[in-house]
Formats: sequence, C-alpha cells, structure tokens
Amino acid sequence: MIDIYTDDEIKKIKESGHLNYMTHQYLKSLLKPGVSTKYLDDEAGKFITSHGGIPTSKGFEGYPNNICISVNDEVVHGIGRDDVFIHEGDIVSFDIVVTLNNYVSDSATTWPVGHINKEKEHLLYHTERSLYVGLKELKPGVPIGNLSARIQQYAERHGLGVVRELGGHGVGHEMHQDPWIPNYGKYGSGVILKKGMVLAVEPMLTAGRKDIVELDDGWTIVTEDGSPAAHFEHTVAITDDGYEILTGE
Ligand code: MG
Repeated sequence: MIDIYTDDEIKKIKESGHLNYMTHQYLKSLLKPGVSTKYLDDEAGKFITSHGGIPTSKGFEGYPNNICISVNDEVVHGIGRDDVFIHEGDIVSFDIVVTLNNYVSDSATTWPVGHINKEKEHLLYHTERSLYVGLKELKPGVPIGNLSARIQQYAERHGLGVVRELGGHGVGHEMHQDPWIPNYGKYGSGVILKKGMVLAVEPMLTAGRKDIVELDDGWTIVTEDGSPAAHFEHTVAITDDGYEILTGE
C-alpha cells in the first residue's frame, strides 16, 4: 500500500527534510583531508540530536552508525570508521535519514574533496543531473516508470552505469515504504502517481560497469570493477501539477 500524506503531514516531512539538508551542509563544512569517516558520523549524530531529530539509520536492521558514508568506489551503506581517513581527490557520499516529530526524510549527496579527476567530475555532475532530470517526470497521473526510464536513459547516454539492485522508495512515516523506485525501467510502467505521495528518489551511478558487491562487513556496497560511484537523493512530494523537493534548503 502506498501512503498518501495530507498537506500538514507534508509540511512536517519538509521540516525533517530541512534538518536533513542542514546536516548535509554541516558535514560538508567538516569534510577535509585527514578527518576520519567515524568523526564525520559522530558529528552527524550530534548535529541531528541537538536539533531534536533522530538519526534513523542507527539500529535499522542492525546498522551500527548514525548515517552512511561511502567513499570513492563505495556505492552506498559505507560505515564510518576510525581508521579510514579522507584524502584530497576523494568523492564522499553522505546518505542521511532523519526523523523529526515522527516524520522521516531521506537525502544523499556526493561531495568532491579538493581537486578531483575528470572521471569523478563527470560522474558527480551527471549523477546529480540525472536526479533532477528524472524528477521532472513526476506529476499526478503519470506512471513512476517514466522517472526510472528517464534516469536510465540520461545516465547511459553519458556513459555511466546504473546500479540495479538498489533504488528509491516511499518515505515519511517510515524509512522504507512502498513503492520501490528503480533507476532503470520502461516508460509507461509501474504505479500511477497521486498527489500526496512522498518518495525518496535516489540514482546511484558508476563511472564503470553497473555491477556491485557487498563487503565482508555485511553492509558496504562497492562497485565490482573498482570504479567510483555517486549517489544523489531527495525526498519529494507529489503536488497538484508536479512535485516539491522536501529535503532542499
Ligand atoms: Mg533512500
């Protein structure tokens, strides 16, 4: 079943989304060569709780940390560690889930650290663009597959791999709700969108092949070929004639 949210509930998800956005900005300000990924995770947890929120990934199916931090060839679900340090030229994804006043928002961004190479620059630019290009498909009466197809088409046209095993989802009351939103697919397929649906849309693209593997820690997903990966995500609400981003400024 796909939840439909009232305007008042959407306002609350947007408040959660604003704290989510502020957490991203705070972490960006700390992201420098030499800091450990565990330090960044600790700071994310402190920031969210000091603003009345709950870092919602913590404890989810046993996940140990506050947020997910994925570096370079790590696609998603990276776990911040004391012995992993940020270097110039890295790309670093923060995937943050916040609950505020019982409403959940989910957002991810991949940041460059200092000067990055051309391959990573191309990957970051087009992964972010693929999110916004896909979102433009969203409005009542349209099948969700149009967004999936659009993201896939855009990514492949720019030579990027589309991860198949992971995708977006409904969000708001809980972290992961229906519907499943793949970043590949066919126009005209999938559930028909309705005003009041709240969706986390999250392309995960690679600079190489699309295949992924899970590390022995049971969480971290990396590209099989070692190519860098990027991840951009917003929580959005379906409106009367389109969509509204709830995890923006
Ligand atoms: Mg998500």
